Amino acid sequence: MTSQVVEGATRPETALPPAHRHPLEPVLRADALPHIWCPGCGIGVALGAFLQGLERAGVPQEKRVIVSGIGCSSRVVYYARTDAYHTTHGRAIPFATGVKLANPSLHVTVFAGDGDLFAIGGNHFIHAARRNMDLLVVCINNFNYGMTGGQSGPTTPHDARTTTTPHGNFEVPFNLPQLAAAVGAVYVARWTTLDVRRLRDCFAEAAGKTGFRFVEVLAPCPVSFGKNNDIGSGLDEMDYYRGLEHVWGSAGGMPAPVERRESGDLSGTEISLHRPIVVGKFLDRPRPTFLDNYADVNAKTRGEKTR
Ligand code: SF4
Repeated sequence: MTSQVVEGATRPETALPPAHRHPLEPVLRADALPHIWCPGCGIGVALGAFLQGLERAGVPQEKRVIVSGIGCSSRVVYYARTDAYHTTHGRAIPFATGVKLANPSLHVTVFAGDGDLFAIGGNHFIHAARRNMDLLVVCINNFNYGMTGGQSGPTTPHDARTTTTPHGNFEVPFNLPQLAAAVGAVYVARWTTLDVRRLRDCFAEAAGKTGFRFVEVLAPCPVSFGKNNDIGSGLDEMDYYRGLEHVWGSAGGMPAPVERRESGDLSGTEISLHRPIVVGKFLDRPRPTFLDNYADVNAKTRGEKTR
């Protein structure tokens, strides 16, 4: 199976009068619409926030690259007007690593789902974070394999029902921010698609940093996860988030983060089906990237002065 290249860094001319244009039209591939997502799905909200965030961060459009894997979330590459690659299942991070190393001036984002990034692609995630590869990794977490029928995956909450765990999930899920922090990410955040402005600002901030940055987006999948767990429609799932979410460090009994933010101790941010969901920016700690360290070793080898 080969990767599919989606080219398109140029902003289109449009014949539509201003009142009829989509506000994101210059960065959205309007000719690819309608999209494939189900009514109430949260992926489009996340994509909108991401595109707005890159605009705010001032990342030049010709420098943007998005790499995705396989699944509903990975279809974003068809709708963003950037150079983009729809790669194979679980292999978005190694592909993106190659893009970044071939042309370090590019701003490379991996945009994929929880199953893709943390089941088949889990090993790539931990090693790219360990190396501090300069990538922004966005995980749309809807707690199941939506595209293939709602099977359980590595982030399905314990006790949640899926098509393969109809009596409740007997596995314990990954806590994605905790995992990212433990293996070396420099920036870690989690928001839901309810927090659309915070999400936009988070993408803008993350896009302006270097190193392995990880943003988890909790997004409704009403046709699978929502239906199987009696949550209801996409709107109902947003209401479910509204009832459960707490911002990290805010009032409400969540862990005080100040002294823990640097250490990467994110205990207490695990997700259960009906327990509070902690969202926020968890970690922001710069450290040398893979390419920084590589340049240092090369300079030392040549007897040059290093950082
Ligand atoms: Fe979205 Fe779920 Fe439908 Fe996929 S199956 S498009 S994740 S609602």
